[in-house]
This record gives sequence, structure tokens and C-alpha cells, in this order.
Amino acid sequence: MSTDGAVERREEPPHPTPPRNGNGNGVAAPAAAARPMYGDRRLRLNPNKEHKPERYDDLQSEFDPVIFSSLERHLPPSMLEVPREAKAQFMKEILARYLPEGERTRVQRHKEYRQKILSTYQPLHKELYNIHPSSFFIPSFINAISNNTVESFRNIMSEPSPGVYTFAMLQPRFCEMLLDEVENFEKWVNAVKFKIMRPNTMNKYGAVLDDFGLEAMLNKLMEEFICPISKVFFSEVGGSTLDSHHGFVVEYGKDKDVELGFHVDDSEVTLNVCLGKQFSGGELYFRGVRCDKHVNSETQPEEILEYSHVPGQAVLHRGRHRHGARATTSGHRINLLLWCRSSVFREMKKYQKDFSTWCGECQREKKERQRQSVTATKLVFMQKTIYTEIPYQEHAEMSRLFGGTRH
Ligand SMILES: [Zn+2]
Repeated sequence: MSTDGAVERREEPPHPTPPRNGNGNGVAAPAAAARPMYGDRRLRLNPNKEHKPERYDDLQSEFDPVIFSSLERHLPPSMLEVPREAKAQFMKEILARYLPEGERTRVQRHKEYRQKILSTYQPLHKELYNIHPSSFFIPSFINAISNNTVESFRNIMSEPSPGVYTFAMLQPRFCEMLLDEVENFEKWVNAVKFKIMRPNTMNKYGAVLDDFGLEAMLNKLMEEFICPISKVFFSEVGGSTLDSHHGFVVEYGKDKDVELGFHVDDSEVTLNVCLGKQFSGGELYFRGVRCDKHVNSETQPEEILEYSHVPGQAVLHRGRHRHGARATTSGHRINLLLWCRSSVFREMKKYQKDFSTWCGECQREKKERQRQSVTATKLVFMQKTIYTEIPYQEHAEMSRLFGGTRH
């Protein structure tokens, strides 16, 4: 057996690394003994769009069920029709490779935290917990989504700077109810002395809506009302494969967070809607989209945008669009944030490190390289015309390419 093990290690492709144990079957079929159970089966780069994935809502796992449904389209063809349990097991093993032990413990703790809230917290407005489009959204927004065309989206949107879209979205009554609900939740947190988890590392005030029962509603909001738009405007950053989200509110004011530093979001696409209340200051500023490598690079003049939020109004942008918020000088400003993520995009991004079509700086560098190579070629061409005789055909062709004079 030890010999088999050594052979197995040598034959194993370096990537992806199959799990060394944890197949859980204990008994290996003879044919499978010499190689890992799923070693020859890999996820497909392109999803099978015709395949209708199963639902995994009942699955006991630290991963969101929607991740399984969306990953299923990437299964090798031979696995598409195997029993659901086998598919789930295969995908669990793949996902486990990306989740270290510490992260798994964190996910488990968070699950218990949520469970604790859900078992005791009494919602104030039950109607918020399911999507009711006509009472949530204003008619122009509903129409644009149901028409589902680029024109219908463009009709309700402004694009004050490339990649930043703003549009009226929420009904005033919905904003009020959501603010009430958050207030009610915070009162409950204080009353029962519950230790609340804040939305992210930068906001000390605010609450995660997904933690107290709004996850399903927000997921539907993402799938049915944001995906149609992001598919059109943000497809190159995973806008057409959004499959999970982080939904929260942030609060700004004198006794809350005052401002928010310059940053990028942990999202592919961010929806930021102002819920109210009365405030002054708190303008958002945007400074261009950047990849990991270029996140601190200079801003170009055309990338500068200052934007004043209006209650009910949404801003939709790429998560990698650098931004921040100025100090809220009076009153309270509360925003609903939906960080939409694509597991497929994140996976694909690992293999594509050199050039990002969506990064302003990558594009600038590419243009600069092209400009330099054209200049260099022109120089060679000029030297050639001076020192050597170029056959007429070649000369004419190069003139056409590099803008020289025709002979
Ligand atoms: Zn870049």
C-alpha cells in the first residue's frame, strides 16, 4: 500500500490538489485505489447554461446553498446526472480546499450567532421580509426591470462618471419601514445585551440585515432586480453570475461614524441606497476602478466624481470602484448597502493576473505600451527610409500603418 501511495503522489497533477483524505468512504474500489477519487474530474471553465441545477437549500454546509446551484453548471458532463448527494459531496470537497480551518470555524460561529438572533428577535414589520415590488420600489424602476432592455435601464439612469449609475429606486414608505426595523433590532440588541457584529471592518455603526432575517428578501432583490442591470453594465466583473451577497445598513452622524475613508468594497457590484433621514454633508466621492495591483495608483482627472446622496436614490457601481464618504456634518444619514458577489468571477480572477479590462490603470498602461511600440516602429521605419531602399509595396504598407506620407 505504501508503494501505491508513493505512485499516487507522483502521478498526481500539481493542480488542483485533490483532498488527501475525507472522501469518507473508507473502502476504495480497486480501480480507484491508484488515484484520488475525483482526481480526473474537474470543474469546467464555461458553465453549461442549458443545465438546470438542483436546489441545495436543505444542505447542511457552511456554504450558502446558492453557491452549490451555481457551481453545478460547472460540473464535468459525466457528473451532471448523478444523484444530488454525489454532486453535493463533490462540490463540498472542492469548496473545502479553498476554506482553511480557521475560516471554517468562523463561518460556523457566525451561523450559530445568526441562529440565536432568529430564534428570539421579533420583527416589527413582517412585510419587509418578503419582496413586494409595488410597495418596495417606485413604478419607473419596476417598469425598467420588467422591460429588461438596455434602453429601459438607460431611461431611468444617470451615469455621472463612467461606471457609476444612479437612479430612483425605493418608495419613501419602504425606507421608513426599514429604518424602523433597524432601530427596533438595535433596541432589542441593547435590551438583551446581545453582542452585535458590525457590517465590516470600517463601519462601527450599522447592522447586518442578513443576520436578522432579511437574507432571503435581499437575495431575491439581488437576483430579480439587480442582476438584470449588472448583466448589462458589469458583465466583465461577474455582473451576470452574481450568486451571493452581504446586505447591511450603515449609519453616519455626530454620535455615529462621521465619515468613511477611501476604499474598495469586497464585492463585484455594490448597490448603495440612501434611506434617509435628514442630513447635510456626507457626499460620496469616486476615483476610478482599480485591480488589486493598481489599487493605490493615481487618479486621472476624468475619474473624479463627487456625488450627493438623496433618500430613495440608488448608486450602483463596481466593488473595485474606489470611493469614500465625506463627513456628515449634521443629522443622520443611513444607507442600505448590498455587496453582490460572484463566486465564478472570483475563481476565474485567480488565473488572469496580467491585465484587467475593467481596471482604469491597466487600460492606461496598455494604451501607453501600444503608443510606445508604435513610436518605436515608426522610428525604425524612418531609419529604414533614410539608410536603405525599401521595396515600394512594403513602403506603402508601412506608410498606411504608421501614418507616414504616401509615395
Ligand atoms: Zn490594473
